[in-house]
Order: sequence, then structure tokens, then C-alpha cells
Amino acid sequence: MTEVNTLDETLTIPTQLIEAQKLPTLILGGGFTGLFTALHLSHQHYQTPIILIDQSSRFIFKPLLYEFLSGEMKTKYICPRYDTLLHQSGIEFIQDTIQSIDLQQRQVQLASGLHYNYGKLVLSLGSVAAYFDVEGAEEYTLPFRTTEDAVALAKQLRNCLQRATQTPKPQKQALLTVAIVGAGCTGIELAATLADLLPNWYAALGSNVADIRVVVIQQGKEILKGISDSLRQTAQTALRERKVPVEVLLETEAIAVRRNTVVLKRNNQIEQLSAATIIWATGSEIDPLISTLSIPEASHDKQGRLKLTNNLQLLDFPEVFAGGDCTVMEQPLPATAQVAYQQGATIAHNLQALAESHSLLPVEIGLRENLIKLGLDESVADLFDSDRVKGHLRHLIR
Ligand SMILES: Cc1cc2nc3c(=O)[nH]c(=O)nc-3n(C[C@H](O)[C@H](O)[C@H](O)COP(=O)(O)OP(=O)(O)OC[C@H]3O[C@@H](n4cnc5c(N)ncnc54)[C@H](O)[C@@H]3O)c2cc1C
Repeated sequence: MTEVNTLDETLTIPTQLIEAQKLPTLILGGGFTGLFTALHLSHQHYQTPIILIDQSSRFIFKPLLYEFLSGEMKTKYICPRYDTLLHQSGIEFIQDTIQSIDLQQRQVQLASGLHYNYGKLVLSLGSVAAYFDVEGAEEYTLPFRTTEDAVALAKQLRNCLQRATQTPKPQKQALLTVAIVGAGCTGIELAATLADLLPNWYAALGSNVADIRVVVIQQGKEILKGISDSLRQTAQTALRERKVPVEVLLETEAIAVRRNTVVLKRNNQIEQLSAATIIWATGSEIDPLISTLSIPEASHDKQGRLKLTNNLQLLDFPEVFAGGDCTVMEQPLPATAQVAYQQGATIAHNLQALAESHSLLPVEIGLRENLIKLGLDESVADLFDSDRVKGHLRHLIR
């Protein structure tokens, strides 16, 4: 205990409390939850030092990754630098990889060797690609989750198209085939974008665009599971109307991936699809760091996502808040950017409330329409479950 003497009384304040107030609030992961928490705290003139840590130097606006790939939007809008976003915000940004989190000791270790003790912590590490133990999937497919992934994909695709111009007919088909495993939003949006983009790139090389194939492989019976029927129908029509029609293989399982080949199982038959570019878009799992946290079994769900109170605190650690893809609420919410940044606003509000000894607010998420990109210069909005929005209006909404 530390004794604080005033003129007429002696207050006894727990040392831990004094120490915690001096320690910074750490935000781990500068995605939609983490960045928005930090920016809200700055706007609220939060008095505790804030440190935001991310492995990347840039925030990635993932819903616009397709525009980044196609060059439809400028890089500065899709992946602005943290030092630009946080300029004069009072927030310290550290670009580093978080290596371990000790909730008991309230300490975070970074790959560079730096370590920090915190008073309050925000866990906002998002998710990583899930490969579901499919043999060869991680090794031979490309992910599409970051700007680095998009750059690598564009390089691979341009390289394949160029090689195809110098390759005889039977062998060149694999170079001109893109297989996308997964027909959720990412798989479908990417397929639609590529089915417009690749013909443009290939035509510029003076070649026959009709040779290009974009094939989506989907284990289930339908594309865009969980989305309204009207939007699904619009998407199906749009996929057929691209510069090259997108081929969708339903009830088809990718059971293994080898170099330039996806092994498929459909109608109990094993088939092989030759494709020089194979993209993995089947879903997400929590960041591996989250599964290393020392928390009771009952404090996370089967997928390892952190369970939260309504105020977005961890069940056993009230000084730790969390949000976004690495968490799950009692009423599960979709793993989307719009949920993540709204949670960020609540986390910031509640951190401020704690600092000022006010009561915390439960999170309230307003789910807005789904907006899906279905090719170059075309997109669709699930506005009131029916409207289709195209062209420049799309840019305004997106
Ligand atoms: C291609 C694509 C398109 C999408 N489109 C949409 C859409 O149209 N609408 C929508 O609502 N949602 C969309 N989403 C989903 C949305 O992007 C996520 O739900 C959202 O980003 C989750 O926010 P988050 O804060 O939990 O995680 P993220 O935004 O992923 O942020 C996590 C951050 O943690 C950092 N990080 C992770 N591990 C470490 C570590 N060990 N050390 C340091 N830093 C680390 C990462 O670099 C990242 O910046 C899309 C996702 C993808 C991949």
C-alpha cells in the first residue's frame, strides 16, 4: 500500500491502482476495431497515454481491396499510413509484431524485444485465413486479405497472362485459368472483378480473351450463404454477364491442392482442375495469438473467439476490452468491418467512462445494408433487400 498524505487526512490507495493509472492503454491491432477505438479516444481527449501497435505501417480498408487490385481507387484511400491517420492525435503508433500477451502480468511482448505493461488493454487482432486442414491449401494457394496479398496476386496474374502469350494451346489453358475456392463475399467479389479485369489485361497483350476461365468452387448448394435471395439472384446474373462468364461449381469440395491443380470431389467422383492461379477464400479463423491467451475454457467459443460482456470486456479481465473478428457476443454478429468499427466506438466510450468513474454502456450495433462488388464499374447494394445500385453511386456508397 502507498500512503498519500493530505493536510487533514491520510488516504490509503492501493499501489496497484496508482500504477494502473500511470500505465498506458495499449491497443493491439490497428484494424477496424483498433484504429476506430484509438481515434475515438483521441477525439474524447482521453487523458491516459494510448499506444497502438500493428505489424503493418498502413491501415487496410479491406472492403476496397478489389478496387486496390484493379487500380480503380488510389492507394492512399484504401491503405493510408498510420502516421498520416494518427497525425496530431496524440496516439503513439508502434509498427511491430505482437509476440505474446500476458493477461495475468498485464504485459505485452513485441518481436523487436520491446515490452509494455498496460493499465488497460484492447484486443483487436482480427482473423487469419482458415485452411481447414486441406492438404496443400496453405502451400499452393494465394490468400486475399491484405494489400500485400493483392500485390502478389496481381503479379502472379500478369505473369501468367504474359507466359500464356508464348505458350502453345494445350498447355496455356492452365495459365489462363483462375480457381477461387469459396463462394462467400470475398470469393464472389473477387471472381466478378477478375472476370472483367483479366480480359482487359489479356486484350492489351493482343490475345483472345475468350480463353480466360474464372472458376469458383463451392462446397455448399448456393453462393453467398446468409445473404438475401434477391441479392443472390442479382449476383448470379452479374457473374454470367462479366466479360468472361464466371463458372460456379456448386456442391464441389476442394479436397487437396497441388502445384497448378485443385483436386475436387463432386458427385462422389474425384476430378482435377488445372489452374496456375488458385485463390483461397473459404473463411477465417482467429489470430493465433488469441488462442495463446491464458483464459478459462468457458471464456471462448469452440472457434476460440473471445466471449465478451455487453460492455465489450473480457469475462475475467475487466481491464481488457476486445472487438472485431476475434470476438463473439452472446447474440453472434457477422464478422464484418461495420460491426468492428462500431464496437471500437463503444470500447472508446467505455475506456473513457472507466477513467472518469462513470458507468459503462452496452454495445449497440446497427447493421447496415450489404454492399457487394460484382465486377468493374458495377456493384450491388442490398438496400431494403431489393435495390440495385450501379456506377458512380456505388463509389459514393462504398
Ligand atoms: C477481402 C475482404 C473483403 C471484405 N469486405 C468487407 C465488406 O465489404 N464489408 C464488411 O463489413 N466487412 C468486410 N470484410 C471483413 C472486415 O474487413 C473484417 O471483419 C474487419 O476487418 C475486422 O476488423 P478487426 O478490427 O477485427 O480486424 P482487422 O481489421 O483485420 O485488423 C486486425 C489488425 O491486427 C493486426 N495484427 C494481427 N496480428 C498481429 C500481430 N501479431 N502483431 C501486430 N499486428 C497484428 C493486423 O495487421 C490488422 O491490422 C472483408 C474482409 C476481407 C478480407
